[in-house]
Amino acid sequence: MSGRWTIAPALGPATPSWDRLVLASGLPRLEARVLLEHASGRRREWLLAHGDEIADARAADAFAGLARRRRDGEPVAYLTGSREFLGRDFEVSPSVLIPRPETELLVQAVLDRALPGARVLDLGTGSGAIAISLACERADLYVVATDRSPEALAVARRNAQRLAGQALAGARLLWRAGSWWDALDAQDRFDLVASNPPYIGAGDPHLAQGDLRYEPQQALVAGGGGLDALREIVAGAPRHLRPAGWLLLEHGCDQDGALRALLAGAGFESIQTLRDVSGLPRVTLGRMPE
Ligand code: GLN
Repeated sequence: MSGRWTIAPALGPATPSWDRLVLASGLPRLEARVLLEHASGRRREWLLAHGDEIADARAADAFAGLARRRRDGEPVAYLTGSREFLGRDFEVSPSVLIPRPETELLVQAVLDRALPGARVLDLGTGSGAIAISLACERADLYVVATDRSPEALAVARRNAQRLAGQALAGARLLWRAGSWWDALDAQDRFDLVASNPPYIGAGDPHLAQGDLRYEPQQALVAGGGGLDALREIVAGAPRHLRPAGWLLLEHGCDQDGALRALLAGAGFESIQTLRDVSGLPRVTLGRMPE
């Protein structure tokens, strides 16, 4: 191709190329590509292979709207309505926390300890990421998941229909509405209980930054400097765990000491803290006596 015929950008057509949309968006390249995929309905590979072709006008308009909202701060996951967690795409909406890679550590810690046929509880499931991942990874597990938010449970049920239909059909994945232990019957017992509860203290400056500004406060913020939900979960756990059952909790990176003390006070043994992908204390677990 001869350079003589290259059209200068300023003289180009009204609708720019796919690549130009990405470059001119003012967004990090990867974010812009994710939003362009969503706006165009085209796969990433197609967009990369056809990057210098003129974008279709409807997709360009939709992309411009999404890019503007992203520049104003809205999370990419809420703009596209999905986020990947442990290799599966979960529907998300502003009624649920956006699943984070740190929480994959919690799921892995449950999988490492769950004996065949174990009954597992996920307290405060949100999008269902933890419960559904467990049910998908292990066809032998029985999983119960709770949330007090009807909107969150609706999102979780849709994710389960799409990702874990077999577990639903086999009654290996069940939902309960209610706050923490209130969602369960007094006689319900589990081999493992996992939770990623709200653990950020009210007034924490992180709440005014990034995605947290758009996420549901009730999934993020807890009283008592961020420890109240963790405290309530630890306090109720001995009544709902079988002998030698595990409690596994995600928490803030400066809460591991407090949580180990709470677990010890509630009679847990074999207490330990696991570090997340960034090397920070993130999951603390303990076991009921035999
Ligand atoms: N992990 C989230 C964050 O700090 C908080 C989630 C939570 O409170 N459970 O970004």
